[in-house]
Amino acid sequence: MTTIFETISEPIARRATAGLVRIGHVLRSRAWKGATPEGVTPTQGHALGLLREAEGGLSLGAIAALLGVSAPTASDAMSTLASKGLVDKAPGDRPRSINLSLTPQGEALAERTGAWPDFLTDAVETLNDAEQAALLRGLVKLIRAMQVKGDIPLQKLCVTCRYFRPNVHPEPEAPHHCALVDAPFADRHLRLACGEHQQADDDSFYEQWR
Ligand code: SF4
Repeated sequence: MTTIFETISEPIARRATAGLVRIGHVLRSRAWKGATPEGVTPTQGHALGLLREAEGGLSLGAIAALLGVSAPTASDAMSTLASKGLVDKAPGDRPRSINLSLTPQGEALAERTGAWPDFLTDAVETLNDAEQAALLRGLVKLIRAMQVKGDIPLQKLCVTCRYFRPNVHPEPEAPHHCALVDAPFADRHLRLACGEHQQADDDSFYEQWR
């Protein structure tokens, strides 16, 4: 059945993008509010969150790549955090490299500022299980598409991991397999930032999953 809405509606991709942009505005404004008392910018707050997730710290290059900023910008942000006593700089594994990690004050601030997107988690939790799984699956595809075009830094997604084995089990509740931990899993378990992720050599696992 055709309906007048087919002609008067903006394409769905545009309306969905408008929704994402609105959420992005709110996230940015909340990020500022969450970080302002400590005088930490959203980029610096993001860096604190990355360091909190990284066992043993990160190199400056890794932080720049994960933040999607240039090395000088990452260096400025890290110097500011170090001057506030939030980040420790130590010699890295390679000559002239620097390893960055959180000080106890940095850990405490990362924990506090890391809680600011909870309002969005609350909203996502209003979706039922199937809707949450579909949202996660859609987000994985969006992030991966932006990654391919260079619009987002490399992310540690299951679907681009060398250990990912999509759709190898007959059980619909857990059709995929992680060869690292040797365990089955489902779309609802897909990770966006796995610490054990190793980039796959090609897109074959992603294509089989998609
Ligand atoms: S190692 Fe991590 S990213 Fe890779 S498949 Fe297993 S859970 Fe996913």
